[in-house]
This record gives sequence, C-alpha cells and structure tokens, in this order.
Amino acid sequence: MNKKILLDGLKSLGIFGGIFILFYVGLNLLSEDKKNKWFYSDEKISLISYEQEIALGELIDEYIIASQYKNPLTNKTIDSMMWAVSKRLQGQIPTSEYDYNITVLDNPQINAFTIPGGNIYVFSGLISFCDSPEQLAAVLAHEMGHVEKRHTVDRLAREFSLSVLFSIMTGGDTVLLSDLYQTLISSGFSRSQEKEADQFALNLLEDASISPKSIASFFRKLNRENLAYDEKIELVMTHPHNNSRIKASLNHEVDDTFDEIPFELNWEEIKAAL
Ligand SMILES: [Zn+2]
Repeated sequence: MNKKILLDGLKSLGIFGGIFILFYVGLNLLSEDKKNKWFYSDEKISLISYEQEIALGELIDEYIIASQYKNPLTNKTIDSMMWAVSKRLQGQIPTSEYDYNITVLDNPQINAFTIPGGNIYVFSGLISFCDSPEQLAAVLAHEMGHVEKRHTVDRLAREFSLSVLFSIMTGGDTVLLSDLYQTLISSGFSRSQEKEADQFALNLLEDASISPKSIASFFRKLNRENLAYDEKIELVMTHPHNNSRIKASLNHEVDDTFDEIPFELNWEEIKAAL
C-alpha cells in the first residue's frame, strides 16, 4: 500500500478522533442544567404523562388564584360568553386529552396566558379590546394550540429536572410552584412554537366555522393601537413581524365546504357587563 495514503489516512483519523474527544469531554463538562436544556427536553416531555401534567396544572392554578391574581372575574354574562366561545372550539378537538379550564381575570391588560393541563387565563382587558367574539376566539384558539402541542410542558422540562417536577406534583411546595409560575410567564415560547400555535389556530377556527381571518383582524387592531410590539402580550412576545402573521391568516385557504357561522352574541352588551 502507498505509504503516503496510509499516513494521510492516519492523520485524518487523528484529527477526527481529536474532535470527537474534545466534543465528548466538552459535553461532560456541561452542567446537568445545560444538558437538560439543550438535549433532553423532548425525551423528558414524553416521560410526563397527561395525568401528571393535569395534576401539576391544578396545583399551579391553585397557586395563581391564591397568590397572584386573587380576583378571577365571576360574572354570569361573561361566563356564558366564554362557555359559548370555548365550547365551539373544544368541540373541534375530539382527540384532546384536556378538559379545558378557562379563567377570566379581572385585569386591564390585553393578554392571555396558558399553564400546563389545559388551563388558560384570559384578562378582562383582552375581552374589552376585542371587536368581536370571533377575535377573542382567534386568541383562544392560539392558546389552545400551545396546550395541545404541550408547549408549556416543554418549557418546564427545559428549566427543571424531572425529579423536581415530580416532587412538586406530590408535595405542592409553594416556593417551587412560584418558581414554575415565574418560568412560565417570564420566558416567551420559541418562534417555531408560536408558528405552530398559529397554524393550529387557523385550522381550528376553520373547523369551528369561524373565519381564520379573525386572527388577521385581531393583529390589525393591535397594529392600529400601536401594541404590536408590546412584549408583555403573550401573543406578540417572540414575534418581531406581526404583519407576517396577518399575511398567513389572510392567505389561509379554507376548504370549499367552509361555511362561516357567526356567534349569536350581543358583543357590546357583553363588554358592557365587564
Ligand atoms: Zn403564543
């Protein structure tokens, strides 16, 4: 065999071996936390059952109502409107593992957020802001996308070890619950998760006989009111380009059989009840 080829081969092998060893050593030098964040999130999500997620969601929900927003809105008019809007959407997710729990918080922020287990919080300010029940349905459908795709569990799995999550489920430690809650509300979802929730919402709205263009009309209103870049709003937190979402909503092609059915709700009367 040609000596030069053999030497070149050995050299390449040496270089690759060196790179491999550096990579291996580097990986082992990473803290357990970093490894959790970068490599194991998907695997960890699959180890958290829906029952466990729902149990965890109940504890965080109790914590939120006891310590954060002590004023869930109790108003018959608003309750029955939320019931009508959310049931129409839920009826089109027959495979859902969740029994949705939607709470309206008496708070002027134009916002909504989601925690594990199918718990969604809608601020009364968001209801006041929406021009129609269809716009509110668009926001709700987006949040349901985060629920169904388990984005909140993904977020927790990146930040906490499984043993911590399981110990909270059984012990309900208030300090740890507060940490979970802060993690859930402080860091936005990734852009790909936002896109996934948007796509889910477009399909869900169509299936529920609500125009998918309702998403565009909601974001146009945010633009008009100069709120498109408000980082406090869950829906725009990680999205620098509101207009691309408007475009996606307007370009969503509905099936030939699509027939829009408006909500039979007196929207102005409902908002006046807030
Ligand atoms: Zn979102």
